[in-house]
Amino acid sequence: FRPTSLTHLLAPSIASRRYLGTLVIAEHEGGSLTNSSLSSIEAARKFLTKDNSLSLLLAGSGPILQEAAANAASCHPSISQVLVADSDKFKNPLAEPWAKLVHLVQQKGEYSYIVAASNSFGKNILPRAAALLDVSPITDVVEISESKTFVRPIYAGNALCTVRYTGSDPCMLTIRTTSFPVGSTSSDSKTNPAPVHQVDLSNFSEDWSSRYVKQTTQDSERPDLGSARVVITGGRALKSAENFKMIEKLAEKLGAAVGATRAAVDAGYVPNELQVGQTGKIVAPELYMAFGVSGAIQHIAGMRDSKVIVAVNKDADAPIFQVADYGLVGDLFEIIPELLEKLPEK
Ligand code: FAD
Repeated sequence: FRPTSLTHLLAPSIASRRYLGTLVIAEHEGGSLTNSSLSSIEAARKFLTKDNSLSLLLAGSGPILQEAAANAASCHPSISQVLVADSDKFKNPLAEPWAKLVHLVQQKGEYSYIVAASNSFGKNILPRAAALLDVSPITDVVEISESKTFVRPIYAGNALCTVRYTGSDPCMLTIRTTSFPVGSTSSDSKTNPAPVHQVDLSNFSEDWSSRYVKQTTQDSERPDLGSARVVITGGRALKSAENFKMIEKLAEKLGAAVGATRAAVDAGYVPNELQVGQTGKIVAPELYMAFGVSGAIQHIAGMRDSKVIVAVNKDADAPIFQVADYGLVGDLFEIIPELLEKLPEK
């Protein structure tokens, strides 16, 4: 690529500047940063030095984006600038335009690190952006031990691997949000908000092949599985969708999110968005209760960071008991009704 020919692509306010630092690719919802973006900021703070500042990249369109940018600029003391790409092209989280945007911003900003959350948004964008920038990304980082040394799970989370990045800048990472919980600093408002700069997109070409069709989300009164403080999970042992309602009732009483194993999802008891594990959601609630879950490594990979794990299984040798803080050997068809009876109405 030819950086000099792209000087005009950014607004004059930032065209003359050169930032050495970290860029966080952030998401926003309802005019605020999402929790996963706050976790990305938390991770990016590890790279902060006197000369290494933290910039945030937000994209979308219209007043809600500008509101999110203004909130982001003052929400976290570590943010030194917010870059905003305001265009209909970013109305939906399509990976191609986003990757091109990251490429564009990197050509001007020359960041040493680019960080995104290891969720469907970050996992979609970052590898494409890395390919455009000709670097190899490091994914699902759970620990930053030195400036370019990272820990990430391998073998479905059964082992942790320490990797050192030896490629050229930028060093691009996706981070596991549950490993970088949002600290108290995130809620401190700044007295002086960071500057917000608009990215000039006048020459941003629309040469991508994917097309946004629609997004389907389930409306639920329950907390979001990814960020709930309590998760109640059911496994294959529930035997039917009808029986799985016991898990839902328990979750309602405890104000919890519902999770499921892949076996329960594959059997059609619940939709697959409730799957916890290697190929499902990664959760780390304060309390994780597993009913009739064997504890296969692919399931453990998605919940092992939970603070307190409670397991109910009729097999005393079930592997779930190896990670459980509290284990109860018994039949869930007796234990859940008893719990429902004894817990007070919400
Ligand atoms: P089972 O393994 O059948 O366990 C049922 C358990 O319920 C048993 O321990 C049994 O003792 C107990 N039980 C039975 N009846 C009762 C009762 N009445 N009361 C109490 N306990 C009872 N799995 C996931 O969960 N998430 C993933 O993301 C995931 N990804 C995968 C990716 C790959 C590539 C592969 C190969 C597999 C993946 N799996 C995943 C599947 C995983 O290997 C297991 O098959 C699955 O987790 C088992 O689900 P389960 O514990 O509900 O069922």
